[in-house]
Amino acid sequence: MQHAQPSSSHSGGGPIRQPNRHEDLEFPYCPDSNKYEKLAKIGQGTFGEVFKARDRKTKQVVAMKKVLMENEKEGFPITALREIKILQLLKNENVVNLIEICRTKATPYNRFKSTFYLIFEFCEHDLAGLLSNVNVKFSLGEIKKVMQQLLNGLYYIHTNNILHRDMKAANILITKAGVLKMADFGLARALSHITKYTNRVVTLWYRPPELLLGERNYGSPIDIWGAGCIMAEMWTRSPIMQGKTEQHQLTLISQLCGSIKPEVWPGCDKLELYSKLEIPDGHKRKVKERLKPYVKDQYALDLLDKLLCLDPSRRIDSDTALNHDFFWEDPAPQDLSRMLSQHSTSMFEFLAPPRRLNNYRPAMPPQAKHQPNMDQHFERVF
Ligand code: ADP
Ligand code: MG
Repeated sequence: MQHAQPSSSHSGGGPIRQPNRHEDLEFPYCPDSNKYEKLAKIGQGTFGEVFKARDRKTKQVVAMKKVLMENEKEGFPITALREIKILQLLKNENVVNLIEICRTKATPYNRFKSTFYLIFEFCEHDLAGLLSNVNVKFSLGEIKKVMQQLLNGLYYIHTNNILHRDMKAANILITKAGVLKMADFGLARALSHITKYTNRVVTLWYRPPELLLGERNYGSPIDIWGAGCIMAEMWTRSPIMQGKTEQHQLTLISQLCGSIKPEVWPGCDKLELYSKLEIPDGHKRKVKERLKPYVKDQYALDLLDKLLCLDPSRRIDSDTALNHDFFWEDPAPQDLSRMLSQHSTSMFEFLAPPRRLNNYRPAMPPQAKHQPNMDQHFERVF
């Protein structure tokens, strides 16, 4: 029986229906995902399934992310290819490590259509799961450790000219040793000076004001805004601004960060949607005031204020943030492994609902007339 050959020397002899765009990849990949034994399904998102699995030989535990091939006329999906190319480039302690790419054997039973998997080192926890678990308590030192690692990962990807574009707690993984790994580069892009990017990125609740106002020439500050939302969430335990629509998200941002106007953000009125959307007027900036009931540390409040800056050009960058007093005043950043060992994976994990189906409740008293639907799941929009 013939099946697709993994090497670039493939002559096209077998009855393979997809043009083999994946063969351009400079990446070691095994031709047969049977190498891994699936243990449990751990994620089910808009973009496909993720399994916990084990290498049958080495016993290494991995995460297998299925590449969705539906609606693909052009063979290997360009979005997956982009994710792989970016992951190949990024090698950092705080970025999830792509081990290899696998595919199932192409046989007559699957009409010679392989299924592809991205194989990652396995991370026991994701931040959304930890934050929704009331038994998990982060000390101030542990919150510092999470944020330090997150900003370190952002510093690394941004200095490599990569934008993540989908910052949110569900995409932040943590190993049992307490090492934070940024994951899900499915929406990531390389920065270039000429491209006009789409502004339909970033899960709505973490989407910065410049994207909501239609900016297409955005940069690393979009990820910094997400880091600010995640940092606040470390105390509030659920996303701080759960808008139902783009207009509603803009209203929630204005209620927290103050009205969006040229006095605080020069040039914002030139953005495409500034005149088309309703720009909430008369709001004072209340970031510190509204987060104070949750966040007792003055350095933390100050850093949050700088991460959640409306004007992207004045939003703090990852390098400056890492030098902020928050990380250098007592208590020092504290290793996470001890706290996490109390929440190690158990037999019950297999009975638990998929991690990403967390039910979030609004963290802060809603200020909008329009009350967010509490059962709303994450919305992912391109
Ligand atoms: P999607 O594009 O579907 O959001 P992700 O890469 O974010 O894909 O994976 C979905 C979920 O699967 C994550 O939120 C996480 O819970 C889980 N997951 C992904 N990668 C890993 C990994 N390396 N280790 C453990 N869990 C993972
Ligand atoms: Mg994700």
